[in-house]
Amino acid sequence: MSYIKTVGIIIREVQTGEADKIVTIFSKSMGKITGSAKGARRPKSRFIAGTQLLCYSDFVLYKGREIYSINSCDVIEPFYNIRNSLDKLTCAAHMTEIINDIVQENQPAIKVLQLFLNSLHMLSKTDKSLYQIIAIFELRLMSILGYGPLVGGCLNCGNQDFESMEFSFLKCGLTCKKCSFLDGSAMDISEGTAKALNYIIYSNIKNLFCFEVSDQVLRELNIISKRYLKERLEKEYKKMDFIKSLK
Ligand SMILES: [Zn+2]
Repeated sequence: MSYIKTVGIIIREVQTGEADKIVTIFSKSMGKITGSAKGARRPKSRFIAGTQLLCYSDFVLYKGREIYSINSCDVIEPFYNIRNSLDKLTCAAHMTEIINDIVQENQPAIKVLQLFLNSLHMLSKTDKSLYQIIAIFELRLMSILGYGPLVGGCLNCGNQDFESMEFSFLKCGLTCKKCSFLDGSAMDISEGTAKALNYIIYSNIKNLFCFEVSDQVLRELNIISKRYLKERLEKEYKKMDFIKSLK
């Protein structure tokens, strides 16, 4: 019998039939997989909690001809608090849209899953600025995928004086004032932003969210992460536009 056991998080759900669901699971062992959950929409279904969007569960799946069917699911973390705030829900939807685009079927992406779960945890369990969580998620994700910006110092001369840096979208990283001839359209950034970028790309994932920044740094970080993501993935993600204020 081809049963498999894996942890994973629901990143898409589609209602089918009278009470069934087809779900996309971002699983630890196989990347993105599609599974059917028979009767998951019935009030007394044993799948009702574990097959909800953003629910992280332990699954046992049976491999059918085309898709998997869910045999059992035990909820590990429902990220329930995210559903209590429209802004948090919008952030989670934004991250989930990106995850759906970049995670491939049957290709494990354990570092991406860990980043996604940590980001959802910050969203659900803390009052950390939503914009900070999103900037960290987007930039670290680019780094995991191999598109990380060069932010160890000036990408041309190696100068590590973060006081006078610019961010070059053309060269994908930091340039110091002496090397600003490389890209006349580079963005002026504050020292805090240069240091935050360095931290987001190089820090241990366990401490990834453990830093505080000023509103100005947050604004600059979000301008950089939004444009950087758009240029790398060649797609504009618009859900965050619905959150009006910087918080
Ligand atoms: Zn330089």
